Amino acid sequence: MNTLLSETDLSNELKAVFDAQRQYAPQMALTTVDQRIERIRRIQTWVKDHEADIQRVMYEDFRKPAAEVLIGELLALQAEIKHTIRHLAHWMKPQRLPTPLSLVGTKSSLHHEPKGSVLIMAPWNYPFVLSIRPLISAIAAGNVVMLKPSELTPHTAGLIRQMITDLFPVKEVAVFEGNETIAQALLELPFNHIFFTGSPAVGRIVMTAAAKHLASVTLELGGKSPAIVDESATIKQAAGQLAWGKCLNNGQTCIAPDYLLVHESIKEPFMQAFREALTSMYSPDGKPVEQSDSYARIVNSKHFQRLRGLLDDAVEKGATVTVGGKMNADQHFMEPTVLENVRDDMRIMQDEIFGPILPVLSYATLDQAIQIINQREKPLALYIHSHNRKNTQYILDRTSAGDTVINDTLLQFGNVELPFGGVNNSGLGKSNGFFSFQEFSNQRGVMQRDFGTMKFLYPPYTDRVKKLISLVVKYL
Ligand code: NAD
Repeated sequence: MNTLLSETDLSNELKAVFDAQRQYAPQMALTTVDQRIERIRRIQTWVKDHEADIQRVMYEDFRKPAAEVLIGELLALQAEIKHTIRHLAHWMKPQRLPTPLSLVGTKSSLHHEPKGSVLIMAPWNYPFVLSIRPLISAIAAGNVVMLKPSELTPHTAGLIRQMITDLFPVKEVAVFEGNETIAQALLELPFNHIFFTGSPAVGRIVMTAAAKHLASVTLELGGKSPAIVDESATIKQAAGQLAWGKCLNNGQTCIAPDYLLVHESIKEPFMQAFREALTSMYSPDGKPVEQSDSYARIVNSKHFQRLRGLLDDAVEKGATVTVGGKMNADQHFMEPTVLENVRDDMRIMQDEIFGPILPVLSYATLDQAIQIINQREKPLALYIHSHNRKNTQYILDRTSAGDTVINDTLLQFGNVELPFGGVNNSGLGKSNGFFSFQEFSNQRGVMQRDFGTMKFLYPPYTDRVKKLISLVVKYL
């Protein structure tokens, strides 16, 4: 897609592809299980054959370590593909539903029909998997797709375009590279469904645009995901898991723990264990973190400056850097950095951090920790590190979050059987496996009468009919 096109040319070009896809959508809807699986296998094979290219482009985009491409992108993608191939026939089969006695003579079933024309918009932080995973579900559900990867990871976006051009005709799947101008032009089109992954701020723009056409939306957003570490937690294990969860992809993970709430009685040993965990992951041989091959970079200078701004604001207002703090602006490098003595009026406790800075707060009672969480928007993830079942249940009962992991971090994305997504400000709708298939499908109720009639209730409402209606209302 040529981003230098005039606005009119651009919208004409997008509209031409949209119209071609819309015309083809009814044929796509008629594809069989095998035909959809064959399309998904094309992607599976391409990804297997191009693993090294996928790793290379993400290194070029923000030095994402090859191992993190495997763990954070390809593992989850392959799991989704295998799961979809294994279960698609079952998902596509109409599902028989129970019939109430009052409707005797009828039968009911649930059919999943494709929504039709769908738009997928992806972010930059896991630029491959967050573009291709929803695509798998969209194809599985029988839709035609226009896909826009993020402009902030241009090497990955280019590879995605190449892959889709190799594998699909434009009338089935088309990729548009580019920035928000392209995104906004796409949002003008009357899609049946929009699957958006990105920030809550842009999520609002997407939902507003969708409202114009009453398109349904899946919004996979972000926000501040807290982690509670109570006094019963295994300190070393919790510290290691949280250090990994915070630093994977350099903290640029939607479900990364954003800030920690640590019980005051274990704060000091926890911090010691956290430091040791960071050293063992990023400086095992005593070399500075900057030299580690296992540590990605902030995606660009705008985001680097944003993070530095959050840090400076916190320090100016009295926060203390107790771990890390080193940076190199030219390289968009920031050490894993812990902030203590943070307060609510600091921006670091208001904005999603999305980088390797971790505020650590302590609490005395669980109610205090819960209050800190509940005075913010509902998070995408809430982590609980505890071996006290009562505490865990107490927290679950009094908070709301898209997903919760107890005694680990980040793993909710990896289980395709688990609904993944947010709630309100952190998202609408769920993805992963069947949940994703459902997002791209209209759940159509189908009822069929085989025998009998409701004629005995039709007008005129004589005394006899009224009596029958009363009996039906009372007993059936
Ligand atoms: P973003 O919202 O800035 O961008 C996402 C997409 O929207 C991109 O394709 C971009 O081109 C487009 N876009 C940007 N500005 C736009 C505008 N004004 N109008 C229309 N489209 C626009 O998000 P990002 O910076 O790429 O990603 C980071 C955010 O995404 C974080 O908030 C993170 O938590 C969230 N995220 C959520 C998930 C999830 O699964 N819930 C996964 C990854 C990232």
